[in-house]
Amino acid sequence: MNIIIFGPPGSGKGTQAELIEKEFNLRHISTGDLIRNEISKESKLGKEMKEIIAKGELVPSEIISRMLVEKLSTEKTNNLFDGFPRTLMQAKFLDVVLNIDLVLNIEVSKELLEERITKRWYCSCGASYHEIYKKPKKKGYCDICGKKLFQREDDNIETLKNRLEIYESQLKPLRDYYKMKMIKINGEQEIEKVFSDIKFLLSNFEKLKNQLN
Ligand code: AMP
Repeated sequence: MNIIIFGPPGSGKGTQAELIEKEFNLRHISTGDLIRNEISKESKLGKEMKEIIAKGELVPSEIISRMLVEKLSTEKTNNLFDGFPRTLMQAKFLDVVLNIDLVLNIEVSKELLEERITKRWYCSCGASYHEIYKKPKKKGYCDICGKKLFQREDDNIETLKNRLEIYESQLKPLRDYYKMKMIKINGEQEIEKVFSDIKFLLSNFEKLKNQLN
């Protein structure tokens, strides 16, 4: 099963992606994480991308596609795409490479997103936390590896405004493109409830697919 998960910044998309990855044994491919990983290497490409993402702008599709091709060369099924595609061109690229079964779209109001975004914390091991919804056991430190948590440079209100505008304008054509595969998820609920909605959908989708085959 290949799935895409959409959701604006602050929608809980990353958290749901982690839960889906574990429960359904999918490989979580986050283009944002791939970019941040390149940035942490302090490579020439990483430095260029750091400037772009700090402004909330999109990294050129050729760079993203190159990173993805590298990942997909080892496994073309059981992927969960997060942050990709962001443009119609990227969606078409993905369709050439593999078959997308389902597209989840987590929806949250703008007001709630603003409230949530400034409270997100990350660890370099990949774990993420939230001051209200997903607190670490020890404030400021990762539950998994114990390292000090940090906030993302692009998690501030000004950048969020720009990112939401970009997100909305990019999602519009993708909504049409994935009309037949896209399912809305109410992202304003508790993490567990959002996940149970997704779990219901995905487990029944698998059953249905097995019956048809
Ligand atoms: P994310 O972690 O998905 O919010 O991504 C963080 C930033 O990385 C975005 O604001 C973009 O600047 C960049 N980015 C991530 N995925 C893509 C993509 N598919 N195409 C272009 N830029 C991307």
